[in-house]
Amino acid sequence: MSSEKKKKYNKKEIGLFKKNIFAERDRISKEISRINESINSSLDENRSGSAYSNHLADQGTDVMEQEKLYSYVSQKDSYLRALNEALERIERGIYGKCEICGELIPKGRLEVVPSARLCIKCKSDQEKIRKEQ
Ligand SMILES: [Zn+2]
Repeated sequence: MSSEKKKKYNKKEIGLFKKNIFAERDRISKEISRINESINSSLDENRSGSAYSNHLADQGTDVMEQEKLYSYVSQKDSYLRALNEALERIERGIYGKCEICGELIPKGRLEVVPSARLCIKCKSDQEKIRKEQ
């Protein structure tokens, strides 16, 4: 039996992954609300300052700064969604399995990228295909 390739993570391992995902989710949602706060406060500043200032250049950089923050938030947001999907896969008992080849995704990879759905090989294959298109 020991020569048989592992096809699934055991309960204990899944428990650790889950803990990791929860911690990550917590961290990301805190980060999102922190950024949202700073977006809101800079919007307030713009509103109160605009009547008095004619510094169009300054406002331009503010807008750029805000756009950067918005895209940062949306990035974090999709990561949060991916983490929630990972939790769903845990519930369905398919977490840690590559969605293309069905091989087990190495533990080390899941610890770094808990939302991973593909093994490294399939992921790099996919990226190659994307580049060729
Ligand atoms: Zn794979």
